[in-house]
Amino acid sequence: MADYSIWILEFACVPDAPTSSLIFGRHNAGTEKLPYAYTLLRGRGHTILFDCGLNAASHGLEFVQKYNVSNWAHPRDVLAEVGVTPEEVDHVILSHAHFDHMGGLELFPNAKFLIQREELAGWVSVMTMDRKFRWLMGATDPGDIIHAVQLAREGRLIGIDGDQDDVLPGIDVRLARDTHTVGSQYIIVRNDGMPNSEDRYIYTGDLIYRFENLDGGEPDDPKILPNGLSFGDYTKIILATDRILNDVSGDAKRVLIPHEGAMADVYPSRTTSRGHYIVEVALADDDKSAL
Ligand SMILES: [Zn+2]
Repeated sequence: MADYSIWILEFACVPDAPTSSLIFGRHNAGTEKLPYAYTLLRGRGHTILFDCGLNAASHGLEFVQKYNVSNWAHPRDVLAEVGVTPEEVDHVILSHAHFDHMGGLELFPNAKFLIQREELAGWVSVMTMDRKFRWLMGATDPGDIIHAVQLAREGRLIGIDGDQDDVLPGIDVRLARDTHTVGSQYIIVRNDGMPNSEDRYIYTGDLIYRFENLDGGEPDDPKILPNGLSFGDYTKIILATDRILNDVSGDAKRVLIPHEGAMADVYPSRTTSRGHYIVEVALADDDKSAL
């Protein structure tokens, strides 16, 4: 009994991301592929995205070049692989405001967007700081922030104030303050709709980049290792990671990590003609496989 189909959809990648940016302290370890992905849910009368990618066809290009992002595809083409159009997306829950998670605001014309209030306010605040603090804006596009404020004015962007249950049916959000960003949130899917669901998944945003962040690559003697590129407090990242693991009873398979290519090995998946993976995490009872 599953309420939502859940697909992780790669839409671009960085072929040569420094390993030290993914696993804290892993210096001089070379580079590795860093996929960019969003997660689509369909069920209970909704079509929902967790994060909305970026728009390399227009204003996102500056960051695409800066981070060497390659093989970007428009969401029209990415979502078509699972039989969905961008117009059908009714809600986007934003984990945080970085360019590769919130840069696609204009690509989903009928969606309402949910973000932690502190996240949006925090970036407006950073934008007012002196130029010498510009590293803080290293992965945040000011154009996205301005667009988000405009959507708020139109009533299409809704600020969430901390932890909230049932922001959509069976979907809860948890604020992880001052971690990867000032107002990052992670998202819990209770895929049987029950309050004490045993069919939970957690979408991490960038609190976690790799399964290795969960156990330090030492499953027999696990050690939580933070990622290597965050803007807040590493102790708080470690504690948030522990909360996430507790919320899924330690079952790492139920931790959905948008930048972790190994998700495609954990669940059934396929590679599209564009070279992107589609991971089918769950299939709603009345839905058909996209594989
Ligand atoms: Zn980020």
